[in-house]
Amino acid sequence: MKRYTAAFALLLAGLLIASCWTPASRAAPAELLILISLDGFRWDYLDKYDAPVLKRLAADGVHATRMTPSFPAKTFPNHYTLVTGLRPEHHGIVGNWFYDPVDGAKFDMEQLAPHWWQGGEPVWITAEKQGLRAACFFWPGSETELQGCHATFFKPFVKKLTNPERVDGLLTWLGLPPAERPRLATLYFNTLDDAGHKYGPDAPETGGAVREADAAIGRLLDGLAVRGLREKASLVIVSDHGMSPCGPDQVIFFEDLLTVSQVRIEATGPVGGVRPNPGVDLATLVAGIRAKAPPQLQVYLREEVPDRLHYRASDRIAPIVLVCDDHWNVESKAGWPERARTYNIGSHGWDPATPNMGALFIASGPVFRRGVEIPDVENIHVYHLLCAALGLAPAPNDGDQRLVRAALRR
Ligand code: AMP
Ligand code: ZN
Ligand code: ZN
Repeated sequence: MKRYTAAFALLLAGLLIASCWTPASRAAPAELLILISLDGFRWDYLDKYDAPVLKRLAADGVHATRMTPSFPAKTFPNHYTLVTGLRPEHHGIVGNWFYDPVDGAKFDMEQLAPHWWQGGEPVWITAEKQGLRAACFFWPGSETELQGCHATFFKPFVKKLTNPERVDGLLTWLGLPPAERPRLATLYFNTLDDAGHKYGPDAPETGGAVREADAAIGRLLDGLAVRGLREKASLVIVSDHGMSPCGPDQVIFFEDLLTVSQVRIEATGPVGGVRPNPGVDLATLVAGIRAKAPPQLQVYLREEVPDRLHYRASDRIAPIVLVCDDHWNVESKAGWPERARTYNIGSHGWDPATPNMGALFIASGPVFRRGVEIPDVENIHVYHLLCAALGLAPAPNDGDQRLVRAALRR
């Protein structure tokens, strides 16, 4: 009797495992997967501006009408979401700058110490841990040693390197003999984001920056062809967020909402953050801000931030979160009105559902389906796709298999 029970238990366990395990893909893994970020490429720039190379890749591969970024729609939180599959509240890079709630240390875009970043496992670490070489020609977080390792090839961020120099730098690594060559690479361009901030999303200069970024991808494709890698390379081309017009005449000032000496201002721009100084009552403070807030500003205690923004679970998020409507910013009056003269006329960070915050997603190459247009997809699902394309087991994350099912060739 005991033997039958044991056999039945084994059968049941087998059935259970078979029902849970679905192969990500039956196709061979990518020989070379290149993840490219065009910082600030709004989803509609593909049609709005001249981008022949990207258009061809989109038509030949998989193109999402729009990719929804994570909140806040800022560069560092979203780049880390793209490569970890975790929402910012879970990977802990909750802004481009924020504070450690315990020791008050400030994170900014120069901080490389592992403790800031170790809330997530980026795909280059997943790859290296599973025996694949990775190369990062820039990506937020790639300069930091995590779980005792780095990508085999990486480079400290140097903003002044031009787009062609970045492409050529990556091509040098990709030109290594097959046994040394990375299987996963990242590449990052920021010139389009810079133009969007300085000239706004509708300016001809921004259109020019789209054309330049497009030409840089063309240069990469040519360089791959010269090295015999064009047909082997699968590309995932994304952006971190879109871009909205804004300006110094659509600014809400902290000084008009609260007594600034009572708080630490932990975030400014489309999303503000406020932490009361010791001894200042949080409920009284938030009630005061609410009484003075204009209609363009939503005022939340961290635990009241709407579910759909997924922005509560980290104590790196300020206790009071101020969310501006599209085009509006919250700022300190310090340095004003001089600062108004150079204030950005384009920006990002607003609610990810805002049409202007939509990002780019294209996947093109031998491991991806051809000629497929897919609907709006959240950027938490990209990590699963990268892992599946390389045959890697993903670390736990907030995404699921939907992009794998939609984009990967079977
Ligand atoms: P944002 O302020 O959200 O528009 O951030 C965009 C800026 O982030 C770029 O213009 C770069 O200067 C900066 N950035 C991007 N990647 C890195 C990096 N790995 N290290 C430091 N800064 C970076
Ligand atoms: Zn960005
Ligand atoms: Zn930006």
